[in-house]
Amino acid sequence: MAKLRHVIGISGGKDSTALAIYLKDKYPQLDLIYYFCDTGKELDETYQLIDRLEGYLGEKITKLEADEAVKSGKNPFDFYYNSYRGYLPSNVARWCTKKMKLDPFEKFVGDSPTVSYVGIRGDEDREGYISTKSNIQSIFPFRRNIWSEEIIKSILANDNRTELSDLYNKYFNGAELDRAVDIVNEDLQIIDRNKEHNRKVILEKLEALLSLDTVTFNHVVFQFLKSRNYPLSFEDDYPLLNDEQVLVLDDIFKILRDSGVGVPGYYEKIDYQVNGETGQYARSRSGCYFCFFQQKIEWVWLHEQHPDLYQQAMEYENEKEGFTWNQHESLQDLIHPDRIDQIKAEHLNRMNKEKSKGSKFLIDILDDTESEGCPVCFI
Ligand code: SF4
Repeated sequence: MAKLRHVIGISGGKDSTALAIYLKDKYPQLDLIYYFCDTGKELDETYQLIDRLEGYLGEKITKLEADEAVKSGKNPFDFYYNSYRGYLPSNVARWCTKKMKLDPFEKFVGDSPTVSYVGIRGDEDREGYISTKSNIQSIFPFRRNIWSEEIIKSILANDNRTELSDLYNKYFNGAELDRAVDIVNEDLQIIDRNKEHNRKVILEKLEALLSLDTVTFNHVVFQFLKSRNYPLSFEDDYPLLNDEQVLVLDDIFKILRDSGVGVPGYYEKIDYQVNGETGQYARSRSGCYFCFFQQKIEWVWLHEQHPDLYQQAMEYENEKEGFTWNQHESLQDLIHPDRIDQIKAEHLNRMNKEKSKGSKFLIDILDDTESEGCPVCFI
């Protein structure tokens, strides 16, 4: 079996950056490989963050770009944009992540058994990108449950109850063992084609086992994997099994500030004025400056803080009739002074509501109309 590789993708966002720092400091025994998929369309603040992170880690972050784009002499986005004949990517035709991030990553990994670390925080409910390649296993060090949903689904399946009870028998005895076996033997009421219900009952069972003892649960999963074909199945030990820490947004900022790497520059809040009131905006996510997942207030931020980039984003819209980054609104329309005031007023109103509810990290709050964004780019 080839040597297991440990890789971390740096998106240019705060969570993946903090993860690289956290793992480097806490698990120096892991031979970590860092990579960054460069679209050629990132904000300068992202490239600056990558430079500072390289300084902290004391090593290079491998830049991944698709070979065909490199050979063409164009930056990756423009190369693929041309090969898609001017069709802008969108949330229903997301060729950008596939071509510029997933494919170069999977090529980089090849067939080597690989653990890919993902910076989803303990206070988030999303899974991030999970490769479908069987030689790549994702691990989530910031969460209490470090395993992927696929592994959890498999280990907690009703058919595996006897195997799971036997594994708990190796670690527990007495009342603890009785409790673990009771939880394990509970029937998961799986309903055909009811994904939401099924996910809920699986997560409830998971929560019960993690609450009983997280470290033991990790060891049980590790043993369970031994009879399966996952990258970690062939390891004798794995240091993260004993890690019970859960890291949330506050911890991420602390890691970034304490290390001296700092938060990404685009995340710093800037005042804006609207209707005689003062609000604050920033960009909440890493990724291409024209990302179609960004909120309207972030487009306004781009227009006012990086007018040259906004102009370049508009030029893509002008190249092909009917194609816009946002549904139902062109970038030209979005910067009409009345529209800017309207977007700012709506944003300020929403932030004030969140503030009154006691929310602390307002920049991370997305519009009601926004999805959680790209699971590959926004980490
Ligand atoms: S940041 Fe947005 S536009 Fe860029 S690759 Fe990711 S999803 Fe596509």
